[in-house]
Amino acid sequence: MFKKLSIVLLAVMCSGFNAQKSKSNQVDRPKLVVGLVVDQMRWDYLYRYYEKYGNDGFKRLLNQGYSLNNVHINYIPTYTAIGHTTIYTGSVPAIHGIAGNDWFDKTTGKNMYCTEDNTVKSVGTMNEKVGNQSPRNLWSTTITDELRLATNMQAKVVGVSLKDRASILPAGHNPTGAFWFDDSTGNFVTSTYYMEALPKWVNDFNNLKVGEGLVKNGWNTLLPINQYIESSPDNSPWEGLLGSAKTPVFPYSNLAADYKSKKGEIKYTPFGNTLTLAIAKAAIKGEQLGADAITDFLAVNLASPDYAGHKFGPNSIEVQDVYLRLDRDLAEFFNYLDQNVGKDQYTVFLSADHGGAHAKGFMDEHKMPTGFYGEDNKEFNVMLKDQFKVDKLITKITNNQVYMDDKLMTDNKLNADEVKQFLIDILNKDKSVLFAVDMKKAGSSSIPEPIRSRIVNGYNWQRSGDIQVIYHDSWLPTYSKLGTTHGSWNSYDSHIPLIFMGWGIKPGESNKEYSMTDIAPTLSALLHIQFPSGNVGNPIVEAIGK
Ligand code: ZN
Ligand code: ZN
Ligand code: ZN
Repeated sequence: MFKKLSIVLLAVMCSGFNAQKSKSNQVDRPKLVVGLVVDQMRWDYLYRYYEKYGNDGFKRLLNQGYSLNNVHINYIPTYTAIGHTTIYTGSVPAIHGIAGNDWFDKTTGKNMYCTEDNTVKSVGTMNEKVGNQSPRNLWSTTITDELRLATNMQAKVVGVSLKDRASILPAGHNPTGAFWFDDSTGNFVTSTYYMEALPKWVNDFNNLKVGEGLVKNGWNTLLPINQYIESSPDNSPWEGLLGSAKTPVFPYSNLAADYKSKKGEIKYTPFGNTLTLAIAKAAIKGEQLGADAITDFLAVNLASPDYAGHKFGPNSIEVQDVYLRLDRDLAEFFNYLDQNVGKDQYTVFLSADHGGAHAKGFMDEHKMPTGFYGEDNKEFNVMLKDQFKVDKLITKITNNQVYMDDKLMTDNKLNADEVKQFLIDILNKDKSVLFAVDMKKAGSSSIPEPIRSRIVNGYNWQRSGDIQVIYHDSWLPTYSKLGTTHGSWNSYDSHIPLIFMGWGIKPGESNKEYSMTDIAPTLSALLHIQFPSGNVGNPIVEAIGK
């Protein structure tokens, strides 16, 4: 009897051990991670339009997720390509190499677009330039690369966006696919870097002509227009014009006709987000994302808020409507994830690649400080020539940085420090300029934090300029006469939303200070995978847990 019992006990204990052992053999991970990066989403949009949001979009994120209220971008300039790269690498331009949307390469003497790659060709379009793209300029691994490496390439990774760079850079070096919008056809396309032909599900999606259906009734406000009390009057003088519209005023009934001749017009409307989430859903279905035990990753950029923001400015009814409709689209998308991947089986995070300034005209209207600055190298080259007797010492001024011609200075035996200091003194006397700084000496210059470290983090010696210009708060470049732009260190550009929700995330919020570089290592910690190669951030431990 005793013997029998002990055998039974032993058997129970063994099976217990086995059960425990088999459980610990499987790393606990979500089935799918979804990155939602809303282009140009200022942090305050979560609350500015709060009362007009439904319960299942932004408010579901805020109620069920963990919201970090004090996350900043820890480098300048705050542009799209860098934002996406930093979110997915946990690194900064000095290390990951993406120093702007465009830059001038000091080692080759050539202008470079962030994802330009002329060794690869378009797939899915006859338009060659659209597909001469790859992640080859990116020096660090992404969180999506690390998931692929951690699973011996079994995890599936897909990136989608209306913008090439916002699909390519998040998806990393060796994804299942990266797809972006071709303005000339209205189709989603890719390049031979990834594949020789579009997958069937992308062709099928393109054949549905989703964009055409979305714009067919034009664009009117979601709610009666008199309810948009959070925004300026519809016909404000600082708003740009959409397509063939003569005034910046709802309803935009020419949209369907405009789209027929120029597919890219959809990008400036809320329907660009709807279209992007439609292909995101098609990707989940087509690639069976989240369908098996191996974690997959879907990187989605919602680019229309950026296009609309640049055109109309943050205080327009147009931008508010983009967010109200995005809120409804997100609710539907989360519902789709619940149904197709399973509630609590996926982790989603929502953030932004940068924010955006108020329009200059709006600031003037309300007696807030603002102004315009020019970035013209001709005028400065004349002054430098007078002083040093050499013409064209400045190659380029872009990204608020001045690129000097190193070779020209060497050939003419000029002291580079002297030339730069001469120019810095001129710049510092300009009424638009707060500081002009020699990039190489930024770390030891008397500039307050966090500007100093943001310059250092953003300075890539091969791809950045030699002098960084910091303009006064809320001053915009003259090319942003209407609408707005971004790129500065200031809060309106650098303060971004960050909310995690779903598998492995507890509900809550925090006002503790974090950086954009903390997003990728938080995902690494959640998934128990290696940090990306250039990571400089830390996991946000307070958000992780059940
Ligand atoms: Zn952007
Ligand atoms: Zn308007
Ligand atoms: Zn932008």
